Amino acid sequence: MFDELRASAPSAEAALAENDHEVKTHADEAEAERAGDVHMAEVEIDRARLEEIEQAIARLASGRYGICEDCANEIPRARLLARPTAIRCTACQTAAEARRRH
Ligand SMILES: [Zn+2]
Repeated sequence: MFDELRASAPSAEAALAENDHEVKTHADEAEAERAGDVHMAEVEIDRARLEEIEQAIARLASGRYGICEDCANEIPRARLLARPTAIRCTACQTAAEARRRH
């Protein structure tokens, strides 16, 4: 009888441990889902900026990096530091974004 109890004890422990694990797994899954949502949002932002980033890289390669796409003036260094993918000076970027909205 005792032997039987002793024999079943480890499996009961294992079942408890398994249950703990399952609860933890569900929590992890929920966490992963939330992280997935955040990741999707990041992808959306990235997609919107991808063209700008690619242009910045192309401009870097062709030596035109830091020159405004629209007015050909130098983009202020502070702006480039704040936004390395900027392809326009602040004034032209504002105008371009206003055009895109209309
Ligand atoms: Zn400009």
